[in-house]
Amino acid sequence: MPKKSTTNEKKIKSCKYIFVVGGVISGVGKGVAASSIARILSDRGQTVTAIKIDPYINIDAGTMNPVEHGEVFVLDDGDETDQDMGNYERFLDTDLSSVNYMTTGRVYQSVIERERNLEYAGKCVEVVPHIPLEVIRRIELARDNAKATTVLIEIGGTVGEYQNMLFLEAARMMKIKNPKDVFFVMVSYLPIPTKVGEMKTKPTQYAVRTLNASGIQPDIIIARSNQLLDERRKEKLSMFCNIPADRVISAPDVDSIYDIPLNFEREGLGDMICDTMSMTCGVANNAGSNKWKKFAKSSHVKKNEVKIAVIGKYFNTGDFTISDSYLSVIEALKYSAYACGSKPVLTWLSSVDFEKDPKKLKELSKYDGILVPGGFGSRGVEGKLKVIEYARKNKIPYFGLCYGMQLLVIEYARNVLGLKDANTHEVNPNSKNIIIDIMEDQKEKVALKKLGGSMRLGAYKAVLKKGSIAAQAYKTLTISERHRHRYEVNNAYKKRLEDKGLVFSGVSPDGHLCEIAELPQSAHPFFLGTQFHPEFKARPLSPHPLFTAFIKASQKKRNK
Ligand code: GLN
Repeated sequence: MPKKSTTNEKKIKSCKYIFVVGGVISGVGKGVAASSIARILSDRGQTVTAIKIDPYINIDAGTMNPVEHGEVFVLDDGDETDQDMGNYERFLDTDLSSVNYMTTGRVYQSVIERERNLEYAGKCVEVVPHIPLEVIRRIELARDNAKATTVLIEIGGTVGEYQNMLFLEAARMMKIKNPKDVFFVMVSYLPIPTKVGEMKTKPTQYAVRTLNASGIQPDIIIARSNQLLDERRKEKLSMFCNIPADRVISAPDVDSIYDIPLNFEREGLGDMICDTMSMTCGVANNAGSNKWKKFAKSSHVKKNEVKIAVIGKYFNTGDFTISDSYLSVIEALKYSAYACGSKPVLTWLSSVDFEKDPKKLKELSKYDGILVPGGFGSRGVEGKLKVIEYARKNKIPYFGLCYGMQLLVIEYARNVLGLKDANTHEVNPNSKNIIIDIMEDQKEKVALKKLGGSMRLGAYKAVLKKGSIAAQAYKTLTISERHRHRYEVNNAYKKRLEDKGLVFSGVSPDGHLCEIAELPQSAHPFFLGTQFHPEFKARPLSPHPLFTAFIKASQKKRNK
């Protein structure tokens, strides 16, 4: 449980709080809107931190299926969080920690623990006010931790959902206490039904009324739609939502989400927030904002396409395909492609399809690079192994992340060392050749089913081999990267793999754990896997060196 807040009234007064809530439907970019506001204010000289509130009971996002919930984003301190935390880190270009993430489960757990410790001095502990007070304590903790002058708090889900009511109650309580320091943004959706052909404001009107029922009036509405809002709709929302028309910000779909902070500034959002809360905010023309502008511009690159195939399994939900499960991987590929002046063209291929139809493998030759991201369990594993073999034999740049690295090593053991039943303990514990074994300290956790938050998680250091592809990319021999796994390369096979040409170019400082496996450039243009997840540390303003090396190798293949 996080430490107690060192709050005092003076500190509260010098900080501003911006709550972002959603109306009508989820998935319309509330997280990106929140991140963009954070970026604007940071570019105006504020020290900004961001908090994500997820209203579910889960203690963290680590126990949820990524197809249901999206990517599990891992922080330096090992917290398994929501993908929006990744958006905040990327837009703010900062590292966040577990105090920036809150779920209903965490809030209740703290209150119950405190009650068990007699910390409520004999009082009856009640849902209200004790739960909202714990929410506020956590917000203040994140503020103090970052020494923030502005805290952005995104409440997950949409207003009207039963499960986020206590978080709205906490927000309302904060507003009552410090009316000038609390600001509400509602990100709502305005549909344009195809048969009607007209943009509809009514769902948003209802959403605002529902928010009003919680005692909260939005200060601005960010109106998400696939088109710009016209004056008529702004007037309508103004009239029925009790808000001046110029406080309805039109946020149409965009080609690049990185334009959004710039679009918001153009719509006057930064000034509105600063004026309303009497903040001493500069104009956004500092070095940070110039860098951002340059990056946003680079994201519109139309030439030098580089075609990357991402081979995964968390794509399908009913009849629909989503790529949310791999959000950080996608963003990391984009940043490096933009930095290399290329337009990334990403294709999702389901690993299972390569098992059903081996002829499909040939289609892979049209891609400039192949990436296998992290994963769990046995479904699709044999398909991934076939893809990796194809990439190795046909010299297509290959980048494996976590499971993608473990499978790289298994493929090598099977097809180069001739150990036909080589496998990971995760898929076949009875295999004679367990190339990827369960980590020693994981055995008991798995046996006792202590599976939540118990993997090897968060940032660990690794040392790199001089002259390797990894060392050349990083331009240093000591790195720190984020992990999320239970299995590791079995050291009993290390020497045999090395003798046959595989290079373990990154190991833990004590030499026990293999962190990077690669083939030398003389054998393959780029065949590299990482036990860690480099995607979690890729940022718009500092693309990840390994992703950049992969994109460069892919560009080279394309140019051949
Ligand atoms: N399933 C593998 C492990 O737990 C890989 C995990 C991952 O790809 N994040 O070790």
